[in-house]
Amino acid sequence: NLARFPFVKGLEVFDFAYQPSLDRKQVEALAACRFIENGENLVILGPPGVGKTHLAVGLGLKAIERGYRVLFTTAAQMIAALTRALAENRLDERLKTYTVPRLLILDEIGYLPIDRAGANLVFQLISRRYEKGPMILTSNQSFGAWGDVFGDRVIATAILDRVLHHSVTLNIRGNSYRLKDKLKAGLVR
Ligand code: ADP
Ligand code: MG
Repeated sequence: NLARFPFVKGLEVFDFAYQPSLDRKQVEALAACRFIENGENLVILGPPGVGKTHLAVGLGLKAIERGYRVLFTTAAQMIAALTRALAENRLDERLKTYTVPRLLILDEIGYLPIDRAGANLVFQLISRRYEKGPMILTSNQSFGAWGDVFGDRVIATAILDRVLHHSVTLNIRGNSYRLKDKLKAGLVR
């Protein structure tokens, strides 16, 4: 698992029937990896458990099948690594970890608050990949809340501006797959 996926599950085992707000045809079109060829970003938004990471991994696997280098990281992991590198005067070198792979999957934007220094590091990475390095980003927060996520409206706007310039967004509005059986049994609502 060179791409460092948190789990290896393909789109083949994704139950589209459970997530009707998701356009299966659109995901299948994305699986053809044209967005990677075109240097476009894919943003997957939705609450916890709706399959954002699964879809990102599934599309990442398709990209690997086509011979693209893929790296998976979470926002928190990447910021921690870049923060360490900055302290060690090795930021430039470390940024390459995240710019060299053809497809970067940046998962879980918005779960943990990002301070200004962290937001600056994310901005540097996004700027370097801008218009040449396609990304898949996932977030539990709508774009309007990214100002709070990054603790700075100006940086968040600059990040979003670049990410969204050439991009497709999948907005998943549905129930958590993790709670599927509990929902069915009426244990939670
Ligand atoms: P998110 O990243 O949106 O919080 P995940 O992708 O981690 O959610 O999904 C949580 C778990 O449920 C994972 O094990 C994932 O494989 C599974 N899962 C989520 N949605 C589906 C689905 N529609 N069909 C099959 N498995 C799913
Ligand atoms: Mg996830």
